[in-house]
Order: sequence, then C-alpha cells, then structure tokens
Amino acid sequence: MLTNTTASPRLPGHRVHQEPREKSVVPYIALRVGESPVAKQLDLELRGGPGTWGLAYADEVPDDRDSHDVLWQRYHETRDCAGRVTGAPVAGRVHPGRLRETVSRLTCPVCNHPADKTDDGYLFLVPRAKSRIEAPLTTWPPVCREHATVHARDRPDLRDGYTAIRSADPTLHGVRGRQYRRAGTAFEVARRDARMPYGHAQQRWIVAYRLVRRLTHPTVAIEAADAAR
Ligand SMILES: [Zn+2]
Repeated sequence: MLTNTTASPRLPGHRVHQEPREKSVVPYIALRVGESPVAKQLDLELRGGPGTWGLAYADEVPDDRDSHDVLWQRYHETRDCAGRVTGAPVAGRVHPGRLRETVSRLTCPVCNHPADKTDDGYLFLVPRAKSRIEAPLTTWPPVCREHATVHARDRPDLRDGYTAIRSADPTLHGVRGRQYRRAGTAFEVARRDARMPYGHAQQRWIVAYRLVRRLTHPTVAIEAADAAR
C-alpha cells in the first residue's frame, strides 16, 4: 500500500530541482569503450529430468548461472590493475554486468557504495506513472542520497519525472532476457525481451541480461520530482 508522506515531501538535504553537484562523475554502471558481450556458444542440454531440454553454454562455468539456475549473458570488463573500472564512458549505455551487481548487492549505481536505507527501506527512483503501483518491478538499483539526482538524469525512463520511493523489502523477482525455444534438434529466438519470474518452467530457455526486483511495501519519499536535466 502506498503511503504519501506529505508531512515530509522531500528528503532532508536532497536537491530535487538543482543541478547535480558532480556533473562530471562517471557512474559505476556506465559502459566503457571496449566493453562488449562475451561470445559464448549456446547448446541444448537435458535440464531437470528426462526429456526436459534447456539452454547451456558449450563451455559453461559455474559463474554463468545465478543461484536460481538461470543462464546469464556475460560481458567483458575493462579494469585497471587495482580493479577499478576504466576507459571512456559510452554515452547513454550501461554495463549489464555491473548493473546486475548493483541491483543484487543494493548498492548505488553511481558510486557502488551501499544505497541509502532508513527504517522505511532502500531509496529507489521510479517513473512517475509507476509510483501508484502496489509493488512495482524495477531493473534499477537503489541509490545513495548524494547521487539520486545524477542517477535520475541518466535514466531514460525518468525523463518525464519520477517519484522517489522506499521499499523495506525489495525482493528478487526474476530476470529479463532473450528467450529461446526448441526447433527440432536446435533452437530459435522466441522473444527478444522476455520477462521471467524466478521459478517459472520456461526459465531454462532464457539468457538473462537484467535482474528484476519487486519493490514491496513502498512508501513515497519524494512525490513526483521533476526530471533531472
Ligand atoms: Zn552513490
């Protein structure tokens, strides 16, 4: 149930209508020049029982699947010898692996430090139209207070304004990815952007590229902030 906290319409210290302080900051999740998908050969494999086919990589390693046994698209990363992400950012693009990491660990997409959390939960930004949904789904991580405006500026889905909400229990819901189907002894693409909740029987046919959380028990922290420019 949404609760509009009109007594406290904006976060203390949060500059909704002002320019971001760090205009030049490169978000942790930004795609860098030279980063691209890892080419992996897909194969058919018996999964879960006799006659139950699904996808696997020909040279699959344990890190290719998550704890729900879903197969993931892998991406190259450019990091320096200290482990820091390096290279020029590619405008308007995110690195799916680092985005997944922040959604999984509930860290800020800009600085990769723990996202802001109060007794009402983690701080998420959702499109204004989604703010009245009981428990919206999101493929974006929560943010820290300092980078909320910077992150909003980078999100194409927030161009028409956004609402900052808190979710006390942002549960892992599933994935988005490319779904395949069996075609004789091979397979073919069934849906290029499929949404698949964890536990679904068809998840063995998907190669995931986005992690999805459901923002349960949301409360509104900032009502309908303007889009950041
Ligand atoms: Zn941050």
